[in-house]
Amino acid sequence: ERLVRPGADDVERAAEAALRPRRFDEFVGQRVVRDQLSLVLEAAVQRGRAPDHVLLSGPPGLGKTTLAMIIAAELGAPLRVTSGPAIQHAGDLAAVLSSLEEGEVLFLDEIHRLARPAAELLYVAMEDFRVDVIVGKGAGASAIPLALPPFTVVGATTRAGLLPAPLRDRFGFTGHLDFYAIDELERVLVRSAGLLGVELKADAGYEIASRSRGTPRIANRLLRRVRDWAQVRGDGRLDLAAANAALTVYEVDALGLDRLDRSVLVALCTRFGGGPVGLTTLAVAVGEEPETVETVAEPFLVREGLIGRTARGRVAMPTAWEHLGLTPPPLSGT
Ligand code: ATP
Repeated sequence: ERLVRPGADDVERAAEAALRPRRFDEFVGQRVVRDQLSLVLEAAVQRGRAPDHVLLSGPPGLGKTTLAMIIAAELGAPLRVTSGPAIQHAGDLAAVLSSLEEGEVLFLDEIHRLARPAAELLYVAMEDFRVDVIVGKGAGASAIPLALPPFTVVGATTRAGLLPAPLRDRFGFTGHLDFYAIDELERVLVRSAGLLGVELKADAGYEIASRSRGTPRIANRLLRRVRDWAQVRGDGRLDLAAANAALTVYEVDALGLDRLDRSVLVALCTRFGGGPVGLTTLAVAVGEEPETVETVAEPFLVREGLIGRTARGRVAMPTAWEHLGLTPPPLSGT
């Protein structure tokens, strides 16, 4: 598993739970979404009504689950957590919906992965607070409407564009989470270090933050590895030397690139003269599946402006050569 992957498995999520901000005032950054959302919630609390349904979009590890939990906490409402892939049939969703308490917050992670019948049932429920329970089978089947108490859906998605339009339209508030700036990640790290009971020196915090790919989950993960290094090989202090040494062990470089990212860049620059080269050829050169290169390494390399995607294939940008300490070939025609 890559140290700089943006997603998390169940074991990691358990470790993360201890670091999760519980209220808005602990949630670092994302000022626009936080301000807008806290207004929506405060107005709802004042009116004594459930707020509009909330859709949160953005890449993994930026705080969508955390915000859903904060929403429930700020409303003083219970939270039910499920996800698109966990709901196999519309009936499963009907069972969840019909057991909700008044005002409950239903967090639906990866909502874009709900199967169509479940998505259709959901948007009727979101609009009319009703589910149609189907009784019987075939020609004799009939729908008995069941009224639901008011509730709030918080949907999270990495791919808002994949939501069917009628479902997307049922969300009264949509917030998009963006990658974090280095100083924001430094604040995340200071808070996390405090919760872990370790002292983080400012220069080490900056170093970890700048290698965390704009993602709090990665920042917290790197912090845990630096803490391990400091405990086992250092003197327990989380200073710059410990951060550099630990991140060298884990092969996370100054930009947050790991071995796979760098091998893609090196192949592109040294074997293909900077491209353009097709994805499949590039993948063979680094000994990976094209899908791995495309979904695991490329998004961050493109986002950082290290590589470009053109109709003729992948190309290395000037920053890629610079990052590898290589000189780009002279431009053709000069
Ligand atoms: P996924 O889409 O993979 O479920 P997510 O967007 O829901 O990811 P979270 O699980 O909410 O991400 O956040 C990952 C970790 O990062 C959590 O442990 C949380 O503590 C931390 N984190 C995220 N955002 C913030 C923030 N703004 N301030 C402090 N910590 C944060």
